[in-house]
Amino acid sequence: MGKAVVFGSFVVDLMARSPHLPIAGETVKGSMFKMGPGGKGFNQGVAAHKAGADVVMVTKLGKDTFADQALNTMDALGMPKDHLFFTEDAETGIALILVDENTSQNEIIIVPGACNTITEADTDKLEPLLKEAEYVLLQLEVNQDANERVVGLANKYGCRVIVNTAPYSEITDEFLSKVYMVTPNEVEAEEMTGVHVDGLESAKEAAAHFRKKGVKDVVITLGSRGAFVSSEGREEIIPPFKVDAVDTTGAGDAFNGGLLAALAEGKDLWKAAEFASALAALSVQKLGTTPSMPEREEIEQFLK
Ligand code: ATP
Repeated sequence: MGKAVVFGSFVVDLMARSPHLPIAGETVKGSMFKMGPGGKGFNQGVAAHKAGADVVMVTKLGKDTFADQALNTMDALGMPKDHLFFTEDAETGIALILVDENTSQNEIIIVPGACNTITEADTDKLEPLLKEAEYVLLQLEVNQDANERVVGLANKYGCRVIVNTAPYSEITDEFLSKVYMVTPNEVEAEEMTGVHVDGLESAKEAAAHFRKKGVKDVVITLGSRGAFVSSEGREEIIPPFKVDAVDTTGAGDAFNGGLLAALAEGKDLWKAAEFASALAALSVQKLGTTPSMPEREEIEQFLK
């Protein structure tokens, strides 16, 4: 089994539900509060680890009590913590999530904090890790110059780079040219290529845009319609598993973590996408993000 790395964000999700969302200047009495680990990077790292990958999570935390949310979760799951960076100059990232308990509409503020301050000295320390890793999975939630340095190191050692282009932000063509695979959702795919993705033909068109920039494989997740996969002249939509979804938050993170785990253990892209779809389908049947990521055994049972 090959080693995999997830390089990305950690934020503590602070979620409050209330009868309505406050307007400017208003204070609303809420009915429920929940705190838990989050951030696209961390969610994907947990998903890959629980799916059985030999994965190292790399992120940056503040020296505060919110960092314990990451450390305690990693301890509980048996995830290696030897590639975490810390800073006294920024707080651990947080996401303030307000949910209207009647309509489920939400308002979110993310303050990436520490994981937006990853320095060159930090990324330099990753050289030995990237030298032995087969895949590194990134998102766009940390400072992009750090992502660029990681991609440079990965390229130097032949470690394949997967970029989950979320949340959408502008990236350079030079950056894309060094990436092995991108995994946008349909909205990000449109933002990045200008092609409105609503089916197989438009997904093929969007994939061609990415390929022109030097990306080899393209996976576009299509929510409850499945995932489009494009590799070496074969382009298909992998249908979703039919399940009763209760919370699709983090479906993309589940999918990406699953994809990484499966590729790192040597599955081809088609089998890996099927594995990722199963993992995501299991995760949407449970509430929450990291707690909803299924264990390896559960995924195997589901795929039987
Ligand atoms: P999020 O931002 O909420 O994490 P996303 O937009 O990045 O999600 P999606 O495209 O919504 O990601 O979903 C990722 C994958 O999860 C899909 O390709 C599909 O395989 C699976 N999935 C999503 N919703 C469902 C569903 N209702 N039923 C089964 N599978 C689903």
